Amino acid sequence: MERTLSIIKPDGVGRGIIGEIIKRLESSNIKIIAIKMLKMTKKQAQGFYAVHKERPFFDNVTDFMASGPVVVIVLEAENVITKYRKLMGATNYKEAEEGTIRKDFATDIEKNIVHGSDSQESASFEISYFFNSFEIV
Ligand code: ATP
Ligand code: MG
Repeated sequence: MERTLSIIKPDGVGRGIIGEIIKRLESSNIKIIAIKMLKMTKKQAQGFYAVHKERPFFDNVTDFMASGPVVVIVLEAENVITKYRKLMGATNYKEAEEGTIRKDFATDIEKNIVHGSDSQESASFEISYFFNSFEIV
């Protein structure tokens, strides 16, 4: 069993598709083992995306992530990191495969509806960034 962190970004929450995304997770046999809504400060968004701090889009993406509420979710399943990234689709929605969340809903390379951890190391960092052990069931 593997775990990963999913975030429904401010555009996904604002568009009213929290339920749609959760439905796609559950119908793919991915188990939700922790979930909450929160609004990050700019500092918290910078800490979350610290791996990207030298990238040209860092300031914009951290402004965006702090611009409204997000839903953070811990997922559990076999190979869930890869499995969930397949459900999300490519970072750039224009390159995402048909039927993926980003292909269906994203409007911008930055406003791309969902986040998913990209490795086991980033998953453990990202899960513990938002949840303590009592909140994971
Ligand atoms: P995420 O980490 O959010 O799941 P990802 O792993 O597909 O997305 P990353 O390369 O980690 O993509 O980029 C983090 C986020 O930064 C992207 O989801 C997107 O919102 C934004 N981003 C990435 N590349 C660009 C870019 N070239 N221009 C603008 N924003 C970008
Ligand atoms: Mg990433």
